[in-house]
Formats: sequence, structure tokens, C-alpha cells
Amino acid sequence: MATQRSVPIIDLTRYDAPLSSDIARRVAEVFATGRFVMGPANEEFELAFAREVGVSHALGVTSGTDALLVSLMALGVGPGDEVITSPFTFFASAGEVTRLCARPVFVDIDPVTFNLDPAKLEAAITPRTKVIEPVHLYGQCADMDPILEIAARRGLPILEDACQAVGATDKGRAAGTFGAFAAFSFYPTKNLAAAGDAGAVTTNDPAGAALVRNLRIHGASVTYRHERVGGNFRMDAVQAAVLNAKLPRLTAWTERRRAIAARYRDLLGAAERDGRIVLPAEAPGRRHVYHQYVVRVEDRDGVKARLAAKGIASAVFYPIPLHLQDCFADLGYGEGDMPESEKAAKEVLALPVFPELTDDEVDRVASELLEVLGDRPVEGRR
Ligand SMILES: *Cc1c(COP(=O)(O)O)cnc(C)c1O
Repeated sequence: MATQRSVPIIDLTRYDAPLSSDIARRVAEVFATGRFVMGPANEEFELAFAREVGVSHALGVTSGTDALLVSLMALGVGPGDEVITSPFTFFASAGEVTRLCARPVFVDIDPVTFNLDPAKLEAAITPRTKVIEPVHLYGQCADMDPILEIAARRGLPILEDACQAVGATDKGRAAGTFGAFAAFSFYPTKNLAAAGDAGAVTTNDPAGAALVRNLRIHGASVTYRHERVGGNFRMDAVQAAVLNAKLPRLTAWTERRRAIAARYRDLLGAAERDGRIVLPAEAPGRRHVYHQYVVRVEDRDGVKARLAAKGIASAVFYPIPLHLQDCFADLGYGEGDMPESEKAAKEVLALPVFPELTDDEVDRVASELLEVLGDRPVEGRR
């Protein structure tokens, strides 16, 4: 019996030679200029990333978390304010609201897309609501038309958490172009990845861009003169150099992610039809960029363990919805308050998806998963 190599959930060492040498050349340029913070590489990246997203301004910042924080600061969020977001997301979507002494208000998700359910949004708005913060989870835009309509009618700004969604679109409009601001992350596992922490804020509002630019350097537009209290949210030039090397390849990488998703669908479609698995659904009009390829299965932890025993890595994003996190206990939520998020947290399983994953690896993941799931249709789920 041939021993088969294991399949990782992601492998950040699979760089091809042309990319490696382009990165090395651009990083060497940063060292040659000695401009390690907000140098020419940063200006080049901000222009290129704004063009890529289709907005007038992109501001490089320290991380996706800080992109959320500085955007919330720019929107004036503070003590007593409420920010509406999803409970089924990475922690930072709500954590940064709390850091400003404001209150995250959770709206449960649509079980098909895993994104904030617009039908439940309006009931969560109160006189204290300051911002609506949809998350484009796993690489698929939230259902933006009804969210935009409600936000406009209620006079509320939108902050998009686009950290997982660079390149995703909803009816032709790109993630990062809908809100007053949008936050992107270039954490090493994201679709566009730095060599460490980095992020960006996008906006079409020149005044908003100026405000974020000011806030990211301690609220000083002239050195040592501070108009307001900001922070150090500047992106390192080395990160900008790495991102400049990678940005031209993003479109091809996204196409590869989509091709992997299509291959999984071909291989696992029959199992979905007989109720053994639920595959990710691309909602009509939306272009999914598959930051994660997330299925639902019964006995998720058992399936994950049996896959691991066969050398197939998988992951759970996210096992505990935010309304049930210990640090948010004082918000007063309990088990049963967000039933769709709680159900998703028990059922979701992310399969390997990254541009360098080979077709053979995809085939291996799918066939091992089918073996783990067994060939018997699950009662009542057909
Ligand atoms: C990654 C991520 C963040 C935070 O980005 P960092 O760069 O890791 O700080 C925020 N929200 C979502 C949905 C993310 O996936």
C-alpha cells in the first residue's frame, strides 16, 4: 500500500520562484531607502489596492483588527453607543466595539450564507445604534441591498468587515465599496497575505480618508501637534513591499480558489443530494472568493477527528459564537438567543482551500471525506 502524504488546511511555504524573487527584490528596496514606516512602498500599495477594490482611498494600517478599530473611531463610536454585527465571525468584529466602551448588538445569521440576516436587522436598531457592521464571512458578501436600504432609511453608516472577502462581489459591486468604511486584513492566512500583520481601510469619502490618515498617526497632521487622540496604526513598509509583489497575482489566486470549490462541488454533490453534507452555497448574484470552503456535517467533531486520522486537516471557524463568549457575559445574551449561529458553530467544518492546493489533494480530501461520511443517506435530511 502506497503511503499517502497528508493534506494541510493551508501551507504558507508553497511560494513559486518568481514570487519569491519579486518579494526579495522589493524588500531589499525598502532596506535601500531606509523608509521603514510609510515609505514609497506604502504609497504604491495604497494606490494599487484602492484601484483593485474600486474605491477612491485605501489606507494601510497595522492589522484587520486595527482597520476595524480606527474605522469605528472615525465614525465617532464611543461610550453608550451600539454597533450591530454578526455573532458568527472572528472575535475582532465585536471586540473592537467593546474597546471603545460601546456595545456590540448581535443579529443572527442567515443559515445558507452564514452572514447577518437582513430580515432580523431592523428590530435590533435602537436610538443608540451608531453603526451597522456586516461581516462578509468566508469570502461571500453579506446580502447588501436590504442592509443598504435599511441603513439609508435609518440614517446609519455601514462599516464592512471585509477581512475575509477581498475580491468578493454582490451584484457586481465589490466588498469594500458599500460602506462609509471597510476593513481588510492581510494576516498571513488571508486571501491577500502579508509576511506578518497588516490591514487596510477603504472609503470613497475624502474626509473619512483624511480622518483615518490622521488617527493612524496619533491624531497628528503636523508632527507633535495632536488634534485628537488616535493611535499608531501604520503599516510597515516591508509589509507593503510584500503586498505589492502579491497584489498582481490576486485575481489568478481567487480564480484558483473558485476552481477548487467547483471541484469539491463536483466530487461531493451526490453526498449533498442524499443529505450527508451541506456544501457552501453561492447566493444568486454573489461572487464567493472562498477564503474558507465550509461544509456542514452531523457529528462534526467526529468527522474532523476521523479525517485527521487519515491525514486530512480541517478546521472549525468558529466553535463559539460571540454572544456566548465569557468576555461578553455582561451583554446579557444566553444560549438560544442566536439559534442559527449556535447551530452553525456545532456543524461547520472548513476543508483545505488555498491556491497552491493541487487537484490531486482536492480529490484525496473529497474521497476520504466521503468514506468518513459513509454511504448511507441521513434520515430526514434528504
Ligand atoms: C482576520 C479577521 C479580522 C482581524 O484581522 P487581523 O488582521 O487578524 O487583525 C477581523 N474580522 C474578520 C472577519 C477576520 O477574518
